[in-house]
Amino acid sequence: MSSVVLDKVSKVYPGGYLAVDRLSLRAEDGEFLVLLGPSGCGKSTLLRMIAGLEEITEGDLWLDGQIANHLAPRDRDVAMVFQNGALYPHRTVRGNMAFPLEIAKEDPATVRARVTELSKALHIDEQLDRRPATLSGGQRQRVAMGRAIVRQPKLFLMDEPLSNLDAGMRTELRMEISSLVRSLGVTTIYVTHDQVEALTLADRIAILNRGVLQDIGTPGQIYNDPATAFTAAFLSSQQLNLLAATVRTPQNQYVMLDFGPHQLIMPWNDPRAYAVSQHVGTQIIVGLRPDGLAPAPESYEGPSFYGRVRALEYHGHEWLAYAECGVPAVPVPEPPDPRGRAEALGHTEGGLRRVMRRMFGNHQEPQDQEQVGQHVGSGFHRRADLIVRLGVRPSWRAGDPAKIAVDLSRLMLFTQDGARIDPPRR
Ligand code: ADP
Repeated sequence: MSSVVLDKVSKVYPGGYLAVDRLSLRAEDGEFLVLLGPSGCGKSTLLRMIAGLEEITEGDLWLDGQIANHLAPRDRDVAMVFQNGALYPHRTVRGNMAFPLEIAKEDPATVRARVTELSKALHIDEQLDRRPATLSGGQRQRVAMGRAIVRQPKLFLMDEPLSNLDAGMRTELRMEISSLVRSLGVTTIYVTHDQVEALTLADRIAILNRGVLQDIGTPGQIYNDPATAFTAAFLSSQQLNLLAATVRTPQNQYVMLDFGPHQLIMPWNDPRAYAVSQHVGTQIIVGLRPDGLAPAPESYEGPSFYGRVRALEYHGHEWLAYAECGVPAVPVPEPPDPRGRAEALGHTEGGLRRVMRRMFGNHQEPQDQEQVGQHVGSGFHRRADLIVRLGVRPSWRAGDPAKIAVDLSRLMLFTQDGARIDPPRR
């Protein structure tokens, strides 16, 4: 078992590309830590630095209490599984799995026993004499996993090991990885861009964007109590409603979130009220998951928005409604992109947006006639289509007037640059 500590670790690739920016985190002994984030955010770079396959530009890596920046990969006692678990094509399954033990000059009887035992746990004991080319993708990944585990490393690093498999196989192998790794008690760092994989597998999730750590916590903590708007949006299975509101405190009676045509009242005894009131007169971002909204009768007097249903969408297990209420939408705030070079080339989405802004002025371009924006405070915003979960039987039809009850306890409150206003509990 092993603990891993990253202390303000950065990676600059040749040519000046900053892939990881002063990132600090700790994986405890025996922990299953998932690195989650969109493609290109620096997850693999981080994993490869821990493995010793990529040099650390700045900062320190500690393995089991020892500084490890300059340790050769073979001296780190780390095993790695990649997306495409490259196997030795001319060796059988048994030969592939036995390989790490053979180079460690283990006694052949021990090797045989260990490979047989592990192949049973991985459900590939009937394929032991076959070559990789004759196996399915799922079986090949099991062999790759077996080869990595067989010599019981101190640390297990996995880089999207399931992403080449079909959905059914992914789910099956996901469960097996979880139980196998936990039964071995080996510290595991697992990279994925799939939020479901992260939520189902992790003891804790570290979420990255543009090389910057956004949040770290248990799946429940970062889903229900996210530290940034990016985390909240990335972990929402349906699109997160992100709205712009101006904070007011009329006659100091309560805190009001003013969305323009609608207001929500937060009483002073709400634990978040004081923190929000510090932003009085300025615009903040309010995040609301579709399941924090519900259709309400016309007579409902609780916190609500009012508008019209634009469209319904059938998702098999539920319906979603898109309701136009005249409230202003905001895009997911991105951390400032430190990668000047990439941005100058206009290669990142953020970079492109900035180029558009320089060409068309400092606002989001209107999408169509229906979505022409409005000015709120100092910014210009598209009107939001609020996404509301309706369950298996929709109570609305397209074109209906819509009263939408808002569960105030589910509001997530962020500054304009996406940081949480009321501190998350960790
Ligand atoms: P992820 O695993 O999150 O998809 P990576 O760590 O692979 O992201 O890459 C992070 C960023 O660094 C990407 O923009 C990628 O293009 C860049 N990058 C990765 N490897 C290299 C390299 N060898 N040289 C230059 N840039 C690289």
